[in-house]
Formats: sequence, C-alpha cells, structure tokens
Amino acid sequence: MPKHIFVTGGVVSSLGKGIASASIAKILEAKGLKVAIQKLDPYLNVDPGTMNPFQHGEVYVTDDGAETDLDLGHYERFTHSTLGRENNVTSGQIYYSVITKERRGDYLGGTVQVVPHITNEIKERIRDVSRNKRYDVVICEVGGTAGDIESLPFLEAARQFRHEVGRENSLFIHLTLVPYIKAAGELKTKPTQHSVGTLREIGIQPDILICRTEKKIDQAMKDKIALFCNVEPEAVIEARDVASIYECPLAFKEEGIDKVICQKLKIEYKAGSLHEWKKNVVDKALHPRHLVKIAVVGKYIELQDAYKSIYESLKHGGIANDTGVVIKRINSEKLETARSLEQLKGVSGILVPGGFGSRGIEGKLKAIQFAREKKIPFFGICLGMQCAAIEFARNVLDMKGAHSTEFNKKTPFPVISLLEEQQNVKDLGGTMRLGAYPCQIKKDTLAHKAYKVDEISERHRHRYEFNNEYREKFQKAGMRLSGVSPSGKLIEMIELEGHPWFLAVQFHPEFKSKPDRSHPIFREFIRSALAFQEEHGLKISTPVEPEIAKAEVPMKEKGEVHA
Ligand code: GLN
Repeated sequence: MPKHIFVTGGVVSSLGKGIASASIAKILEAKGLKVAIQKLDPYLNVDPGTMNPFQHGEVYVTDDGAETDLDLGHYERFTHSTLGRENNVTSGQIYYSVITKERRGDYLGGTVQVVPHITNEIKERIRDVSRNKRYDVVICEVGGTAGDIESLPFLEAARQFRHEVGRENSLFIHLTLVPYIKAAGELKTKPTQHSVGTLREIGIQPDILICRTEKKIDQAMKDKIALFCNVEPEAVIEARDVASIYECPLAFKEEGIDKVICQKLKIEYKAGSLHEWKKNVVDKALHPRHLVKIAVVGKYIELQDAYKSIYESLKHGGIANDTGVVIKRINSEKLETARSLEQLKGVSGILVPGGFGSRGIEGKLKAIQFAREKKIPFFGICLGMQCAAIEFARNVLDMKGAHSTEFNKKTPFPVISLLEEQQNVKDLGGTMRLGAYPCQIKKDTLAHKAYKVDEISERHRHRYEFNNEYREKFQKAGMRLSGVSPSGKLIEMIELEGHPWFLAVQFHPEFKSKPDRSHPIFREFIRSALAFQEEHGLKISTPVEPEIAKAEVPMKEKGEVHA
C-alpha cells in the first residue's frame, strides 16, 4: 500500500496547487520513489471535454484518450509518470457511477446518500490509482478551495481515508496565501489561520502548510503561523513567487519540505538530487543565450491557461536551443478585420493551435497565408493543420470556398471532412478521436528530420480529417503528406515543399513535451525560427514579458460549441 499525500488549497483559487503537487512529486521522484498523482475535481461535468476553455482552460488529453484537467499536464511535464483516465476524477463521474449503481439495484433498497455512498466511491477511485501498480507515494490534489460546498465530499472522503490507513500512511498538505499589505508594509497570516480553521471544522488538521507569498517569510512569521495553525515550524514552507514554474521543486526542496514529508510518512530519507533539473531546465530557462519571438494566432488568446501546454512546449523548444521564447499572442478574430498584417511583422515563427467553432477562422487563414508566402516558419496543430490545408486549397489550388465541413457543410471543396464513423455521432462528450495513435513518417521530410524515427505515437482530439479525395491534387502542387496512419487512411502531417519550415500536424504534440525533453517538433520549430531571425536580422535583445490580458469571456463566446 503506497503512502498518500492529500493537497488542498485555501484562501483563494489559482495559487498553483497543480504546480505544487507536481513539484512535490518531482522531489520525491529524485529520491528514487515511484510517485503517482491524481486530481479530484469538484465540478459536475463528467470531464472538461465539452467545457469552454474560457471557463476551464485547456483540456489535457492522456494517452488512453481521457479528456482531463490541465493540471495533469503539469504532472506529466514535471515527472516521469504517464497518466490515464484514473488520474482525474470529477464529482460528475462519481455521481454518474453511484446513480448508475442505484438504478441497477446494487444498493439493495437502501437510501443512497452523500455519506457513505459518494464518499465510498471517491475512496475507491483514490485506491484505483495504485491498484495493480506499485507506487511508493500517491499524491491526490483536491480541486477547489477549503470552504467550498462543492469540494466537501472529497475532503470528507480524504479525512476518512486517513482514518482508515493511519497517520504514518497519509498526510495533508495545505496551500495558502500570505498576502503582503503594501500600506502596512506587512505580510498577513490571518487568512491562513482562517483557512486552516475551516479545514479543522471538517476534521482535517493539515500537517504541512505551503505559503504562497511575494516577500520572504522570516522565522518569526513562520513560528507564528505554526503556533496558530497547529503545525511544526519546520512544516511551514515558504513558496515565494518565482520567475519560472520549473524553479518550484528547487525552492520547495530548499525549504526542506521533503525532510518533513519523509519524517511524517516514515519514509527513509535520501537526499536525492535535482542538479540535472537545475542545470538542464531552470538555468536554461532563466538565462538563455538567445531570444526569439513567436506568434501564436488563436481565439482563446486572452486566457493564459487556454493554450497552456502549447506555451510550455514552446518554452521547452526554447530550452533545447538555449533560447528564451517571447510569445506574441494574437487574437485571430482581430486579424480578420485588420487592413494589414502589421501584428505579424517582426515575428520569426507563427503557430496556429487547435480549436473548435468558426469564430476567428478567416484570421487564422490570413496568418497561414502570410507565413507561407513570406516563408516564415509555420507550425500548425490540429485545427491549425486543417486551416493550413484550407488555405492551400483556396490560394494555391484555386479552390474558391474550400473549407472544412465543420464550418461550411455545403462547401464546394470539403478538403477537411468527417469520417463515416463520425457522421452519426450525436453526443459531444467523449466522442472524438481521442488519445494515442501511431503514425508513420516518410523519409526525407521535416517530420523525419525532427523525430529521426519511422513510426511515432501521438495524442489526438478531433473529429474532422483531411479528405483523401484531395490527396493527389495537394501533392502535385507541393504539399507533402509526411505522416500517415499505419492503415494509410488518415493524413497526420503535412508540409510544404520549397518553404524552409512549414509543418502541420493533426495530433497534439504539446501533450508530450517536457522541459528536459523537448518535443522534437517544437525543438525544430524554434531552431528554424532562430535561423529565420538570423537571416532577416530580427534579433531581439530584451525579453519582453508577454502581455496577459484579462480573462474576459467575449459575449459571443457564450453558447458556442467547444467539442
Ligand atoms: N475542430 C477540429 C476537429 O474537431 C479540430 C479540433 C482541434 O483542434 N482539437 O477536427
């Protein structure tokens, strides 16, 4: 039986529980422990697959085709684990399963209640993670903030879990905020005390507190928090803001969190080294030799989290090239009405990410045409590849009105269309082509140069496909079909002849990139962007922080379909 660590959050949301959990996992892995991470999400959607990215951020896809919370992306990027369906549990799934059992008559006439039926189901899901697998530690991150009505069943299940397995086998870590009040010139501990008080009311006494803060928390302040929150002073861990999220494991270790965890869980303490991580990831991310500017042209640009894995993967591609990547976020809808493509000038690479719905499509097409004609490195992902095919059809093959049937059912040239098996699908949830599929790569292509192997596996999340009827026409006009499914039926990668670097893929490579092991396509994209920059004298010398606009949901976004 593995040891279990429950990570909860208090005071406010967005404190970075996901990154904290992933960082703890990283530190424990460095000691040679085998660690799994699970996210428990309180909302009633069965999964985030149909949710608007403005509400939820990116949908992260696992190898086994689960549509999950973006925190799973952090877990996979920070650790060696490959996660699956059992690593993300939502209240929706829990209730769905309990109600299905009730309808089947499994409860033999009993009254079905939150306690014990929902909580028992949650405990089962927690145990599922390590069923038939050998883990030393399982970290369960509980979504939401202490005090929320919604997360109560999860917290109650965690409380019971600890009661059943005992103190030496389970641990509660609570992440809180210690705000700095400018006018008083002081850090304040009261919100932390209240938040711990809220947890205590439901029977949970945290063992370790991770305190997010802008300023240093000195020993006196730590002692005060320890006294009022009933934890040991060494169990008060400062988590000061860092320049790169990849520094967090180093900062936590520096604070000695691993010593406290090992001591409380009676795990033999081994120092473990994060030296490689520091050298190959953190130092490279903080002190890159070069800088390059990349445009990301999408429709969820206003929200930091909507393209999370793509932004991280670009950084990884940067790290692999000793380069800092300055990301210029461009709202594709704004490009539609723009008289000139001024916004795209001065960038050394253009990336068009995945998406759903017709808003902003014409802007993406304009950006792709610009990249194709001006020979700027271009990288298209999923909808980005579909748009590259549409743009090529319209502007190179002269197929006026070419489109995807997702956006125009009556287009005269449906270059992107539905496969037969998708045509009768009515439900939106979980019905796309999801998860890992193999793809064969043709020799002497950009794709082969990047991967250096003939067969790969990548994760998918889409319904529409390249229409095979147009294969020949595309190829004759210089579009190379560089990756196809083993059956030969599905086009997975396309690239342009006569262009220095133009590659678009139907899958989502961003779900498999890690800071210390950049995805090969991202690595090559940044490499080609550097070459473009050099050739065109576009050197940028100061790192400009990408501007993150406020996450306002555009009105027309409401009611739009996202799956
Ligand atoms: N909307 C497109 C499809 O369903 C692309 C999906 C995506 O980019 N993830 O095929």
